[in-house]
Amino acid sequence: MANVLWLQGGACSGNTMSFLNAEEPTVVELVTDFGINILWHPSIGLEIGEQVSDLLADIMNGKIKLDIFVYEGSIIQGPNNTGTMNYFADRPMMDWVRELASVAEFTVAIGDCATWGGIPAVAPNPSESTGMQFLRKDKGGFLGADYVSKGGLPVINIPGCPAHPDWVTQILVAIATGRIGDVVIDQYHRPKTFFTDFVQSGCTRVRNFVQKEDGHFGKRGGCLFYEVGCRGPMTRASCNNILWNRHSSKTRAGHPCLGCTEPGFPHNDLKKGSVLKTMKYLGVFPKEVPSGESKLMYYVKAGVGKITPSNPELLETSK
Ligand code: SF4
Ligand code: SF4
Repeated sequence: MANVLWLQGGACSGNTMSFLNAEEPTVVELVTDFGINILWHPSIGLEIGEQVSDLLADIMNGKIKLDIFVYEGSIIQGPNNTGTMNYFADRPMMDWVRELASVAEFTVAIGDCATWGGIPAVAPNPSESTGMQFLRKDKGGFLGADYVSKGGLPVINIPGCPAHPDWVTQILVAIATGRIGDVVIDQYHRPKTFFTDFVQSGCTRVRNFVQKEDGHFGKRGGCLFYEVGCRGPMTRASCNNILWNRHSSKTRAGHPCLGCTEPGFPHNDLKKGSVLKTMKYLGVFPKEVPSGESKLMYYVKAGVGKITPSNPELLETSK
């Protein structure tokens, strides 16, 4: 039996909505088949008021063991590092987070706001939001770069806006069944099992990418990289392999990948003209090219690919 406490800070509840749609396994199966005991969750917990305060007190005094502390939303530190913009159970939420993270066996951050600050942390960041152990790409965040939970791991980050529900439930199962030691995390604390391949892996439009055939919103065929800012070639996530609702993904539905599982999200700080638009030099060359490519090589190869569209080497690099 693994006790899970889920709290929310600067959040829209999107990750909760996603979590409740999990299919492999479902949230019900977490409880009935995988030994997860949800101590409390802001949307599905039955306790209110003092019942929640008493539960938190019992966790803090050791009467109830906290196996997994799940946090959704940014850590709100404003104003002036007091955290009083976000009160919960009679004190700033950030004080609860600090103390609960110190007694938890494992701490898991769900969604971009909890992992790296997300949209609330975009300048001028009036709520002084940060992520649990990162602020954008910089390690540290609220708990500090050296934080490790009692179980010996740093914050396990499951990013996304929202995170795919199966990423969440499968990591909870790995912890509950004692197999989290098998899960390797990357430099941004993301489980590599979900965040090694790029979104482009499995995308149905790869051939169009190689052949530089432009696509548009909602249109069948064509690649969304050239005009509408698809970040699939530089975003690590399994969205085109572990499909959403088991049958689709953004790019399959004709919507560009926004790069939501990378710590720079939202990219270009949501500057006017940067959203759902490919940023270019001289109106021609994409400012960002697929990860692992030098810009010069990409431009040369893309030009060759345009002339010889069946170039197998280009197909290989786009996988
Ligand atoms: S750039 Fe986007 S739409 Fe084009 S192939 Fe890659 S993931 Fe698919
Ligand atoms: S396709 Fe891109 S923007 Fe959409 S959920 Fe996956 S990583 Fe995020």
